[in-house]
Amino acid sequence: MSGARTFAIDATRLDGWLRELARFSDAPAPAVERVLYTPTDLAGRAFVRGLAESLGLAVRVDAVGNTFFRLEGREPALAAVATGSHLDAIPNAGRFDGTVGVLGGLAALEAIRGAGITPRRAIEVIAFTSEEPTRFGLGCVGSRLMSGAIAPEAVRALRDAAGRPFEEVRADAGFVGALEEVRLPEGHYHAFVELHVEQGPVLEREGVAIGVVTAIAAPASYVLEIEGEGGHAGAVLMPDRKDALCAAAEIILAVEDAARTSGSDDTVATVGVCRVFPGAINGIAARVHLELDLRDTSLAAREEAFAVMAAAIERIAAARRVRVSRRTINEDPPAQADAAIVAAVEASAAAHGLTSRRMPSRAYHDALFMARIAPMGMVFVPSARGVSHRPDEYTAPEDVARGAAVLAGTLLKLAEDGDG
Ligand SMILES: [Zn+2]
Repeated sequence: MSGARTFAIDATRLDGWLRELARFSDAPAPAVERVLYTPTDLAGRAFVRGLAESLGLAVRVDAVGNTFFRLEGREPALAAVATGSHLDAIPNAGRFDGTVGVLGGLAALEAIRGAGITPRRAIEVIAFTSEEPTRFGLGCVGSRLMSGAIAPEAVRALRDAAGRPFEEVRADAGFVGALEEVRLPEGHYHAFVELHVEQGPVLEREGVAIGVVTAIAAPASYVLEIEGEGGHAGAVLMPDRKDALCAAAEIILAVEDAARTSGSDDTVATVGVCRVFPGAINGIAARVHLELDLRDTSLAAREEAFAVMAAAIERIAAARRVRVSRRTINEDPPAQADAAIVAAVEASAAAHGLTSRRMPSRAYHDALFMARIAPMGMVFVPSARGVSHRPDEYTAPEDVARGAAVLAGTLLKLAEDGDG
């Protein structure tokens, strides 16, 4: 099908929804803070639910609070098309990250219905639980459970900073049912498309309205413990030293070098944590704790860069006579967007008279995990100055509305698809 339909989204109305949702915050405006399962999170959820109900959408809430707003299709037995994002916000955040994908999704459904259309497949807007890792140290808890990327036992083992188990906090927030019930099978959704702010500077800099995501980079992160030998900074002569910090310095530079020379523009590697023991001016470092974050949109490129790093670490450890042990925190695979969804987003942007460009998503989103159970795509709208996770995060109301219009066209196109 060519000549995608166009939709008019009321930018002022959608911006009003975003402003109203931002009032549910534990930080004074313009900062937004909505942490998982707090009374503020629950109040924000209730606001969005009320909005969806006023639009005539059916509501389902699963055991962790993932919430599904459904516009029924002409053939309810067919797999639905889904969109959505998250409502939680880290401390000192802004009002666009995640919320644009949920409220923009509702605006898209309202526009489809307002045009008198009942799509062939149902369309659902999902508000995912805990995309941000703020409370339990793990991001995308809702979409990980939904896609089977994490076992329910691993979620039951999570504790917040106050030491409270996930299950206790969840029950207090009023979400009941077994975590096992959150999982959805492959094929449950015909497609998943997430609308999100870019959180980077590319679209604004190039004056392009719509980003069409081709792949989502995924992080692997590791702890490196380097063990040398401590000693007196005056008494131990240089040839006799096993200085853990000198080894760490070489390792950090080797990590940077491996990412720089990987041959893939999308490889990024960061050592963001370095703790030195004992940490005294007159003591040789006996032990160093490093934390490494490595990302790429290609799993092969990421693994190759990691192999280069691992070999360099071994060489450095041998030369400096220190022991290096490694622990994996997580190794999430990147995801490629589905070619037909990329084409549908591009066609919708063109039909709306908007410029678009293909780009990777360098941050990860719920879409990364939804890609495990459904063909996936993402629509980006510009972020002013590329700023995000800050109170001055900003996307102009017209830009948000354009994203919602492109989303509506994309969802409708996918919802008219044949097959099961
Ligand atoms: Zn987000």
